[in-house]
Amino acid sequence: MKRIFALATALFANVIICGTAFAAQSALVLHDGMTETFANTLVNLLGHFREYDARTASLDQADPGDIISAGAVFILLSYDSPVPGEDIRNALEKRSGITVFAGEHRWLGALPSQYECDLVTYRGKSFWLDDFSIKKMSKTFGKTFVAMSQSSEAVPFIEREGNRWMIHGAPMFEVPAWILADVLHDILEAPHSPKRLAMVRLEDINPSYSGERLKRLKDSIDFLYSEGVPFSMAVFPVFINAKGAPRALLLIDNPPLLDVLIKAERMGGTVIMHGTSHQYHQVSGEGSEFWDVDADDFIPEEKAYFHERMRYGLWLFKEAGLHPKLFEAPHYNMPLSLQRELTQYFGTIAGSLMISDESYTISQDFPYIIYKSREGLTVLPEQLGYIATDAEKMSIITILERLDTLTSIVRDPFACFFYHPYVAGDLYLRELIPQIRDRGFEFAGAKDYGGDPLVEVVEVPPIWQLAFTKVPLTRFIPLFVGVSGAIVLGAIYFRQTRRKKREMFRE
Ligand SMILES: [Zn+2]
Repeated sequence: MKRIFALATALFANVIICGTAFAAQSALVLHDGMTETFANTLVNLLGHFREYDARTASLDQADPGDIISAGAVFILLSYDSPVPGEDIRNALEKRSGITVFAGEHRWLGALPSQYECDLVTYRGKSFWLDDFSIKKMSKTFGKTFVAMSQSSEAVPFIEREGNRWMIHGAPMFEVPAWILADVLHDILEAPHSPKRLAMVRLEDINPSYSGERLKRLKDSIDFLYSEGVPFSMAVFPVFINAKGAPRALLLIDNPPLLDVLIKAERMGGTVIMHGTSHQYHQVSGEGSEFWDVDADDFIPEEKAYFHERMRYGLWLFKEAGLHPKLFEAPHYNMPLSLQRELTQYFGTIAGSLMISDESYTISQDFPYIIYKSREGLTVLPEQLGYIATDAEKMSIITILERLDTLTSIVRDPFACFFYHPYVAGDLYLRELIPQIRDRGFEFAGAKDYGGDPLVEVVEVPPIWQLAFTKVPLTRFIPLFVGVSGAIVLGAIYFRQTRRKKREMFRE
């Protein structure tokens, strides 16, 4: 019996080992505390590569065994951090897999002085830089893979020596970050095929829509549908119109809007849950819902608050007959802690992500799809911006410039812009959509990357006082009893009178 058990255990272990042999390799991103935010951006980018399963760890808690065995190791250092311990250095020496040094450190040969770089060249194109500096180095690491320059003096930005790489500085934002994002394909030996996907979101649709606004929304939807563009609609189901004692206008209070949205879903449009009320203390649409931007801090009792709003919001969508397939945080402000909580409701999020719980001002725009972010979400990015009221022409120029930058840098971009239909209905969509297609982009449907809510959606009590109070049917029972009583009495009286009349004529 024991032998059979041992055999079964061995077989089971074998299945597990064989199973993991085909699974993603591990990628380990090590930070020194000061480089933790940089590590968060990197682990998010690594989520683009399904070939790897990435996680961060702090250098002083890292396991040397994990460092030796990981498929790829990134070690992120700042100039003033202590030299990694001997066990870490030995583990890095023993590695034969992909190893990437990033940041700047005396141990790596960084000198105190630095280059304020003004230009970077990648894939034959040059881009102006804004506020990016790298330390001067006392030695060369390898062959320059990407070069930057300071007043025409070339300096290496990314160097390569076999499967060991060096990234100078901390490229977390804008062009340097997008270049790193693309070079990761080379670093990780993951040559994704070139493919350009695009997405458009109709933004901030809410129960206050009526009249001309509603017509412009409908025109936008009809145009996108006629063009075969699989569009998305970021909707929040509660509109709060005042500070102080707010009253909530709900989706179901607005049948003409609901009619448009239900039809739009049937036309293939995707509803995105754009928060529940798109506000915290403010008027809907103006406020962030899941971060206190005035204090630049967490909302008190943030988890209980978050779950209450999610449950209520999802119920209102269900009551309205709409089917959100993914989430988008109002103003993209949602701390890492709530990004993790969100995975209980949706697997996919749209837009940019906060990368630190310190401040909402630090967020990451992604150049391509992230299949698994640090907190476990699929991210459909947005990096092109939107058409601003009173600056429409300039907005279109900016969107196309950013699109061209993205296209020049990234081999498999996922480009997205968003649009408030009330700005001018389909007018600017007619201008932008063909120009995006001309650049070789194919529009993708957000629902292909999302799915139904992961929780059972049930009725929950309102959070705010409702603008139109719903009267329960039981309230009508006395009226019902009274009216039916009167009808019965009336009928009896009528029959009696008729009988009396008949009897009268018989005589
Ligand atoms: Zn790729």
